[in-house]
Order: sequence, then C-alpha cells, then structure tokens
Amino acid sequence: MLIVQKFGGSSVADAERVMRVADIITRTYRQGNEVVVVVSAQGDTTDDLIAKANEINPKASKREMDMLLASGEQISIALLAMAIEKLGCPAISLLGWQAGFRTNSKYSNARIKKVDSERIRAELDKNKIVIVAGFQGLNKYDDITTLGRGGSDTSAVAIAASMHADLCQIYTDVDGVYTADPRKVPNAIKLDEITHDEMLELATLGAQVLNNRSVEMAKKYGIELEVLSSITQKPGTKVKEVTNVEKMLITGVAKDTSIARIEIVGLPDSPGIAFKVFALVAQAHVNVDIILQSVGRDGTKDISFTVPEADGEKTVAALKEYCERLGVKTINCDTDLAKVSIVGAGMETHEGVASKMFEALSDANINIQTISTSEIKISVLIDRKDADRAVASVHSKFFDTDD
Ligand code: ASP
Ligand code: MG
Repeated sequence: MLIVQKFGGSSVADAERVMRVADIITRTYRQGNEVVVVVSAQGDTTDDLIAKANEINPKASKREMDMLLASGEQISIALLAMAIEKLGCPAISLLGWQAGFRTNSKYSNARIKKVDSERIRAELDKNKIVIVAGFQGLNKYDDITTLGRGGSDTSAVAIAASMHADLCQIYTDVDGVYTADPRKVPNAIKLDEITHDEMLELATLGAQVLNNRSVEMAKKYGIELEVLSSITQKPGTKVKEVTNVEKMLITGVAKDTSIARIEIVGLPDSPGIAFKVFALVAQAHVNVDIILQSVGRDGTKDISFTVPEADGEKTVAALKEYCERLGVKTINCDTDLAKVSIVGAGMETHEGVASKMFEALSDANINIQTISTSEIKISVLIDRKDADRAVASVHSKFFDTDD
C-alpha cells in the first residue's frame, strides 16, 4: 500500500515526540508499505517566527514572510529524517519545491496547482521513506509560497491525490473527530466515521481538527482520510464518502465565536440593492455567511449578514460611501454574537431535528436571533456569552439518550 502520513506541529514538538513519530513511520514501512510523510513545523515554531518578523517589521511583505515561515518545516523534515535513519530505515527529506509542489502566486495563502510527484516516486522506488515539508510550494516566479495557517493538511491530501495513495492518515494531538469540543463538553463522543460533507461543515464551523481546504480537496478527489492521535495510536475517525454506520441523525455540534454581523438599516426597497451591497463586500474580499433581509416596509428594507470578525470593520468601510449615498440611517458591526450549529447527513431524511435543537436552546433560556439551514446543517445566531451553554444543551439533547 502507498500510505501518506501527516504529523502536525504538536506531534513533533520535541526530540522525544520526533522519535515517537519516527517509530510510527518505520513500523508502517516495515509492514511492507510505501510511506510518504508530510510534517509541520515543530510546536509553536510558526507563531514564534511571526513574532520575530513583527519585532523587525510588522508590515513585512508577504513574500518575505513566506520565505521566513517556510523555514519551520525545513527543520522538522530534516530532524525526522535523522530520527528515521537512527531507527535503521532509509529516509530522505524534501522541501515543498523538491517534492514538486507548484502553487499560484498568492503569497501567505497560496493554492496548490499541482504536485509533480516524479521525485517522490523515484525516491520511493529506491525504497526510501520520503519526508516532505508541508505548508509550502513554489510559484511561477520560482519563489517560495506558503498555503495559509494549518496548510500542511492540504499538502498531505494533495500528495495522496496526485499519487493515488491508498490511505491518508492525519496524525494530531486529538484522537479523532468528536460530536463537540471534548475539552468543553465532557460527554462528547468520538465518531468512528464521518462523511466529507459533514467534516467540511464541522471544519468550517471551527471544529479545528482538519483544515477545511484539505477536506474540500479530499472530497473532490475521493480521498479517504483518517484522523488519529500520534500519542495514543488508537483507531481514529475515518472521513469518507459513504459511511458504513447507519446515518447518524447529527454528527456534531459546533460553535463559532469569531463572527460579526453587519446591519444595514433603511435601504431603499428596490431592485439591485442586494446585488450592489454584496458586490461591494465581495470586492473587499470578505466572505459572507448568514444573510437576512427584512420584509420591505414604507419603501425601505434592512439587510444584515455575518462575516468573519476580523473583517467586520473592513466590511463597514467598503459599504459606507454607497450607503450614505442611498441615505441609509445606520450601518453597524455587531461583534457580540456566536453561531452555534448542528451538522448531520441524517437530517435530510428525518423531521423534527430543527425543533429539537430549538427546544434545547429554549430549555437553556437562550434567545435565538437568526436561524439558517442547509441540507445537512442548522445554524443559529445567539449572544456570544451564551455560546458554551448553548453547545452543551444542544449536545445533551441529541446525544445524552438511553435509546
Ligand atoms: N506550520 C504551519 C502553521 O502552523 C502549517 C501547519 O501547521 O499546518 O500554520
Ligand atoms: Mg503548525
């Protein structure tokens, strides 16, 4: 089998952990598999490098930031290759460009265009374990680029896709995907399996186990992922197209507390207004999530929508001039909100899921401000201070049952 194994920064944080990871890899190799490993920078290295840059120039160009940040992964690939050599297996470390990673030119948030995997293939044919630096590639100017924070997951999936790997294992410091954040919800249950779509929703909603671009790519190329812990080495959670377990009603409860709601009060109730508003937001490169438009009254209407909290002020600035021209009374940015969502492929075929969620919120005396639904997700906006209570109450409504 050709197996891609990815190890996150916490899994290689110090010498002891590097040796433990080398042990997992060499065992896989000795079972007769071809092994390609993708690794992140050790521990907090990437954050430390960012801090170092900020000391010198907080407005450093993105090109130079990428040059700097890519160095973190260079350290871990070399150390890991040395650890594997010590255990008596042949290994070779490769930087992103040596492993054939080609990206677009968007420094600090580049997208992988392709992986020319000939070099990796050639090294595997020499019976080597190939250790690849995650999070990085090369653009058309032969400059180093990075893929955005948490990008090593995507590197691993890209190799798995390009080489038609049989399995892509993502080792991390949690032992799988849970029905809620296990640090906050003690009764959270580890899932054996989850579909790509469900994982994508949970990843986007801030479950923070897998980078969402990596899940998108895995779905697109039909790659099965396994999320597991490098510490416990117990079976983790499989992310796959069709799960064998009977469709669970819901697979998880997630919260997102880094959102802002933009509220525009008193827009003219006429055609083309929503189009113009969201065109301006798109031009500012802001992602819009939940949109609500009021029923028109006295020739005016209100529009509100959520954006990432970090983009709140930027969004208001992008709309200010247009709104003033239209005589809009207020446009403000409310950051006192949280989004709590339930995700599950089972809700497509079961009724009563929404009411169960709302009942849980009502039990906890939490006011719902906005509701938004899709085929496999129901989200509500609530006061930020209520977020943890809401997750706990909704989780227990769906999962603390005897039947
Ligand atoms: N080292 C990079 C980061 O911390 C990439 C990764 O960990 O996946 O964001
Ligand atoms: Mg990292």
